[in-house]
Amino acid sequence: SFANVLLCKEEVAAIEVDASQELSVSKLLERANRDRTPDVDEPSLIGGDIALKPEAERNADPCTSRGCLWLKYTDGKVYIPYYIANHYSYREREIIVRGLESFSAVSCIRFRPYQNGDHEWLSIESRNGCYSYVGRQGGAQTVSLSRQGCLYHGTVQHELLHALGFNHEQTRSDRDNHIRVHWDNIIDDMEYNFYKIDTLNQGTPYDYNSVMQYERYAFSKNNLPTMEPIPNSNVSFGQATQMSQNDITRLNRLYQC
Ligand SMILES: [Zn+2]
Repeated sequence: SFANVLLCKEEVAAIEVDASQELSVSKLLERANRDRTPDVDEPSLIGGDIALKPEAERNADPCTSRGCLWLKYTDGKVYIPYYIANHYSYREREIIVRGLESFSAVSCIRFRPYQNGDHEWLSIESRNGCYSYVGRQGGAQTVSLSRQGCLYHGTVQHELLHALGFNHEQTRSDRDNHIRVHWDNIIDDMEYNFYKIDTLNQGTPYDYNSVMQYERYAFSKNNLPTMEPIPNSNVSFGQATQMSQNDITRLNRLYQC
């Protein structure tokens, strides 16, 4: 009967949640940041979800020349204060805290709540899209985890890895040995998302399963691949739903955990 095909709102919501949890971090980020309209006080993004400081500020930034690592304490741990905006629901907050705490089990990184007197901290807020600055910036630095599409375990880990100093896998200096970029398929004026940079590879191999690797059709203007693996173009990549072992190894080496 007619009544049988009607789903209540909660059931529809549950189905949507299930479908999203199977999506890769790359897909989730692209979906959340598609058609993003930033507020006037928000940064522009590069690479899909990396926040950029205004150029004047970038040039004066000592972090660029010194590296943007967070400081290690005498006990060998790296304590990083965070503040979570109060506009999140209890359930959303739990997803964020679970992401923050996932680093404790596998590294010397310890995210801890902001305390009076902290000079540098992550301000986790639901702004327009999912994004983070790369590395420690000084003062409060925004990590945006929008309530519309960013609250997944792997997405939280991805943005925190940016804040810890990591870039995208496809921009690695040795990228061309592992990924062929199809420049003709990239959305016009988005080619810069694929420019190689001096990444912190820490002696770890290129990792198709890194949570920092975007997928085959990222920033495609014509539904054709923007990236293909070399030499076997059928190998799957960019499908990670959480940090890989290489992501963890790299993190531990960077901070000498
Ligand atoms: Zn990213």
